[in-house]
Amino acid sequence: MAFKERVFSGVQPTGNLHLGNYLGAIVRFVALQEAYECIYCVVDLHAITVWQDPRELPLNIREVTAAFIACGIDPARHIIFNQSQVAEHAELAWVFNCIARIGWLNRMTQFKEKAGKDRENASVGLYAYPCLMAADILAYRATHVPVGEDQKQHLELARDIAQKFNNDFAESIAAHGHADAFFPLTEPLIQGPATRVMSLRDGTRKMSKSDASDQSRINLTDDDDAIAQKIRRAKTDPDPLPHEEAGLAGRPEAANLVGIYAALADSTPAEVLKELGGAQFSAFKAALIDRLVGRIGPIRGELKRLLQDPAHIDGILADGSDRARVIAAETMKAVKDIVGLVRR
Ligand code: ATP
Ligand code: MG
Repeated sequence: MAFKERVFSGVQPTGNLHLGNYLGAIVRFVALQEAYECIYCVVDLHAITVWQDPRELPLNIREVTAAFIACGIDPARHIIFNQSQVAEHAELAWVFNCIARIGWLNRMTQFKEKAGKDRENASVGLYAYPCLMAADILAYRATHVPVGEDQKQHLELARDIAQKFNNDFAESIAAHGHADAFFPLTEPLIQGPATRVMSLRDGTRKMSKSDASDQSRINLTDDDDAIAQKIRRAKTDPDPLPHEEAGLAGRPEAANLVGIYAALADSTPAEVLKELGGAQFSAFKAALIDRLVGRIGPIRGELKRLLQDPAHIDGILADGSDRARVIAAETMKAVKDIVGLVRR
């Protein structure tokens, strides 16, 4: 069955929006607007799977919203909203909790990483997170989901859930006029040179909002001096840049910085090394700082300007939620009919 092409993705309002979120996700969100109908969500229900201070959470929700807009997403042509304003996400997630198997969730590496050693004390929500993520996507029957590399496993789970739902209810799906499948098997869009931006302090760890060290990441709110300082202090090795990509093997910090540079220059690591191979890190870092400041500076300015008017941002979220709800409600009604839940 052919599904209407539609893009969905989300970012958690957990604070410290960083270069990884920008290059791995938001830049792609912006590009996809030209060719697809896009729905971009501030996933606040995902955020509360770990403790969020209720005084800070609304500020973080508005900050991600403002960042979407500052980076170039158009809330009039597409949809920007926060997840908790569309109840169908949580409702569909419950159905998916009953579709997904415990064995599937037990394999999720993000849960293992985030729960850490004290797994017994992690929230049930953190464990069930991938089922909610599947609901986010499938409430809109989205066909394409741009994400960073770290979300690949969760997207595969969303496909497994869609497939099992389509199989388990095949007869009912056909009887309700949806041909051979109700949910699409969503395509992950994980592309470009910066699908996994690494920490500036340790090239083997993902750049992350939750890293205790602010030096490990470039935040979208960092000023030019902070950006320059963090890059100058970023861990490297003593060798100059290689001339070919193969020379980056075993040099995770060098590979990371070259990947960031390539993403900012709309290029590839191979092209960057063709041009800058042989350079010392001091020179390469100076060029990288120029690119970063040139890109993040204007976004930061726009972000700050938007945040001065929280009522305007809340209005955008309310409007986006109203439009998202229309689509999600239709899906949820169909799901109820397919599953056999009586409704009015
Ligand atoms: P948290 O630590 O709270 O999970 P996060 O930095 O992982 O925060 P998310 O809101 O979970 O951010 O993810 C938003 C998007 O950013 C996702 O598509 C995710 O794959 C992408 N992303 C997150 N970190 C990176 C990274 N280091 N490099 C590339 N993409 C990333
Ligand atoms: Mg994450």
